[in-house]
Amino acid sequence: MKKYDYEIVIGLEVHVELKTNTKIFCGCPNSFGAEPNTNVCPICAGFPGMLPVLNKRAVEFAIRAGLALNCEIASYCKFDRKNYFYPDLPKAYQISQYDLPICANGYLDIYVDGQSKRIGIVRAHLEEDAGKLVHQGSITETAFSLVDLNRSGVPLLEIVSQPDMRSAAEARQYLEKLRSTMLFAGVSDCKMQEGSLRCDANVSVRPWGEKELGVRTEIKNLNSFRALEKAIEYEARRHMDLLDDDEVIERETRTWDEEKQVTRSMRSKEEAHDYRYFPEPDLPPLVIDPEWVKSIAQSMPELPDQAQRRLMDEYGLPPYDVAIITSTPQYLAYFDQCVAEYPQPKTVANWMMGELNKYLNQGNMDIAECLIKPGQLAGLLQMVDDGSISGKMAKDIFAEMFASGKDAPTIVKEKGLAQISDQDTLMRIIEEVLQSNPKVVADYRGGKQKAAGFLVGQVMKATKGQANPALVNQLIDKCLSAE
Ligand SMILES: [Zn+2]
Repeated sequence: MKKYDYEIVIGLEVHVELKTNTKIFCGCPNSFGAEPNTNVCPICAGFPGMLPVLNKRAVEFAIRAGLALNCEIASYCKFDRKNYFYPDLPKAYQISQYDLPICANGYLDIYVDGQSKRIGIVRAHLEEDAGKLVHQGSITETAFSLVDLNRSGVPLLEIVSQPDMRSAAEARQYLEKLRSTMLFAGVSDCKMQEGSLRCDANVSVRPWGEKELGVRTEIKNLNSFRALEKAIEYEARRHMDLLDDDEVIERETRTWDEEKQVTRSMRSKEEAHDYRYFPEPDLPPLVIDPEWVKSIAQSMPELPDQAQRRLMDEYGLPPYDVAIITSTPQYLAYFDQCVAEYPQPKTVANWMMGELNKYLNQGNMDIAECLIKPGQLAGLLQMVDDGSISGKMAKDIFAEMFASGKDAPTIVKEKGLAQISDQDTLMRIIEEVLQSNPKVVADYRGGKQKAAGFLVGQVMKATKGQANPALVNQLIDKCLSAE
C-alpha cells in the first residue's frame, strides 16, 4: 500500500580513465583493444618488490580535470593502499587516495526544466585501474574466467558527487555534463562502451520533507546513459515499495541486469575500514606547486559551461539546445563552423539535433566520421532560403549528402530536384488545376478561403512536390481574385 510521497536522492561515483600515453606507475602503453596481457610489465602485473613511479602527466590531467570541475587543487596529497582481493588485482591492493585527494569541493551546473541547478562534487582522487576479467558468457553462468592485465595500472580519476540529484533524469544530465567537461578538458575519451567512463549510482528515498537520508544502495555496472536512468528508476521504485510494506532496505551493493532490466544484490556494502587503508609506503607524498596549477589553469580551453553561456547570450539558444551542441568539442566546432557560413544559429541547431543526429545515431557514428562538412550543411540551408529547394526536399537531399558526401547543388542538379519557382511554368499548371476543379473555385469565390489550400495541394501533387509552395499560394490568390 502506498503510504508516503517520496523524494529520490542520488549521488554518483564516476571513474574516468585518463588518456595518458603510459600507465600511472610504469611505462606500459595505456591503450585500449590490444591483445590480452601484452601491455604488461612486472610493476602493473603486481610482482612482489617492484616499485611504482608516478606518471607526471597523470597528475597534470587530474589537475586539469579538477579545474574543469571547479575543484580546489591540493598543494599536498598522498597515495594510500586500498586492500581487497579480487582476481583482477594481482597485488591484492589498489593504489588510491583516501583522506587527502588531489581535488575537492567542486561543482557542475546542469539545467533542470530550464533552470540552472548546481551539483556539488565532494572530491576527485587519482588511482590505478584494475585488470579485467573476461567471462565465458555471464559472470553467474561462466565455467571459468580469463584475466587480462592490460588495464591494470591505467590512471583513473574517481569523481564523487554530493547526493544532490533528485531524479534519474537529473543524474543522466549530470553524467552527460561531466562527460562533456572531461572531453573539453582533453583528459579522457570517455567511451562508456569501452569502459573509459564508468558510473556507479548511490540511490536512496525518503518521505517528502524528511531531512535524514534513507538507507542507500549502490548500483554497479551502469555502462550507458540509458542503463543509468533505468537502473535508478527501478531501484528507487524498489525502495519505495519496501518502505510502503514496512520492510527493511539492506545497505548493499547491487548490479544492473541489462537483460531483465532489474537490479540484483551482489554483496553487502563494504565500509572504508573493511579496506584497511594505509599510506602507500612506496610513494612519497605528492607536493603540487601552485605555480604549476596556475599555468595549467591558463592553458585550459573553452569548457562546456563557457560555451553554453556564449550560445545562450550571443544566439539566444535555449538550454536544451546548448546542452546537446556542447556535448563534445567536435560537435560544438561543427556548429560554430556552420554558423560562421550560415549565420542563423537556431536553424543550424535544429538541423544538427534533428537530421544530423538521426543519421549519426542510425549509423552509430561519431560526428568526426560525418561526410557532410559544416560548410556543406550551410550550403544546403542557403538553398532553402533562396527558394531553390523546399524544406522537405532539403531533408531528402541531406540524406543523399550524408550517404555520398556530395554538395547540395550537385545533388539537386544530378537528380533534377530543383524547386519550380518559374512563374510561367507554375501558371500553366495552376490554370489546369483551376479548370478541372470548378466547384472548389466557386466555393473560394463564395467566401470559403480554405478552398485555396486544396488547390495548392493539387498543384503540389501535379509537380510531385517540386513547386515552390509560397509562390503557388501567391499565384493562386492572384488568379482567383483577379477574375
Ligand atoms: Zn606495466
